[in-house]
Amino acid sequence: MAQLSDDCFAFGGPMMSVDEAVGLITARVTAVGETERVALVEADGRILAREVVAPLPLPPFTNSAVDGYAVQASDLPRGKEQAFPVAGRVPAGASATAARPGQAVRIFTGAPMPQGTDTVFMQEDVRIDASGNVVLPAGLKAGANVRPAGEDIPEGHVALRAGQRLRPQDIALAAAFGLTELDVTRRIRVVVFSTGDELASPGKPRGAAQLFDSNRFMLMAMLRRLGCEVGDLGIMRDAREPLAAALKEVASRHDLILTTGGVSTGEEDHVKAGVESAGSLVLWRMAIKPGRPVAMGIIGGTPFIGLPGNPVASFVTFVHVVRPTVLALSGAAPSPFVPMPVRAAFTYKKKSGRREYVRAVLRRAEDGALEALKFPREGAGLLSSLVDTDGLVELGETVTRVEPGERVGFLGYANLL
Ligand code: AMP
Ligand code: MG
Repeated sequence: MAQLSDDCFAFGGPMMSVDEAVGLITARVTAVGETERVALVEADGRILAREVVAPLPLPPFTNSAVDGYAVQASDLPRGKEQAFPVAGRVPAGASATAARPGQAVRIFTGAPMPQGTDTVFMQEDVRIDASGNVVLPAGLKAGANVRPAGEDIPEGHVALRAGQRLRPQDIALAAAFGLTELDVTRRIRVVVFSTGDELASPGKPRGAAQLFDSNRFMLMAMLRRLGCEVGDLGIMRDAREPLAAALKEVASRHDLILTTGGVSTGEEDHVKAGVESAGSLVLWRMAIKPGRPVAMGIIGGTPFIGLPGNPVASFVTFVHVVRPTVLALSGAAPSPFVPMPVRAAFTYKKKSGRREYVRAVLRRAEDGALEALKFPREGAGLLSSLVDTDGLVELGETVTRVEPGERVGFLGYANLL
């Protein structure tokens, strides 16, 4: 599974902007290519592998948009109301009838337009006179209240594009075409492990100087949301050779290896050494806060990403490094984030030249505008700062300070995955 070319030393260099890093990753990753056919509902959240061309127009036949009376446009009353005999009745699902000039046909929403008619009066706008004729008012436009065949989607139109991530409305469209299955790219297989002698697995005894491993579960949940098949390798001790052996062992069975912790340059950061021994490694720093060095490499042809250990840094770098990698592996079209403009309700100073993400709560101000409130503390180890906020305020490279009342871009957590 060689998805990343070997010249990934191009990832090196002292400090890389987020856009540069994402560009490099996505340019170097080759999509897995294998596809599978799944039932419509199973296709939700998956990446469409082949475009869907409309096999029929939508709606498939011209029909009435309302309950009422269908007539021919040349008969439309001009100047004053006019009575018409009612020549027939077409409920939804009935086959189309025909009408002659001077006749009206009782019709219901979704029923096919009778031949010889092209305009429908809403039943609320008409009355029935003593002799049972329908009295139609003057002033209706020709073609009113009719849904022409193909007005939604014409036959032959590319209705769903390859590479798009399927949503419920896309699945509705496939169903409207009469399809029962869709071709999607197969799920990306990712194996995850944590590193650190200070970590204990939830459910196991915790030593006095240990904390429970939380990142692994966050990362596995995030990968699931991206549609990945996730393998859990647990916690690896801080030691080069066992790490290298484990990395080599899992590489052939996975499309991506993901780790957290141990990628700084301290002497207890053994992931670096483990990857160097098992394959090739590049450590690089993104100009992003929170975030620290991220390791990237190739082991037996399989891409490797080592995220930092601090939970918030791990979360933010996942979003900017792992997500685009997974999307590229699954052949998905790139989907950059679109921050929502909100009003800052905080003061903030930052260095120019790097991008920062401020954890924030959204609230509605008295004037109705949406305001972002900064989480009061900033540590990259604070899980509560992710749990008790709604998303991240994105402050671009050129920003150096934020004052209350300024407009900032907000990314809700739900939109990040
Ligand atoms: P490291 O990147 O290994 O230097 O770790 C940085 C900080 O993150 C340390 O305080 C670690 O204890 C913490 N940390 C590392 N891995 C995890 C994890 N899987 N879950 C929670 N905290 C972690
Ligand atoms: Mg560590």
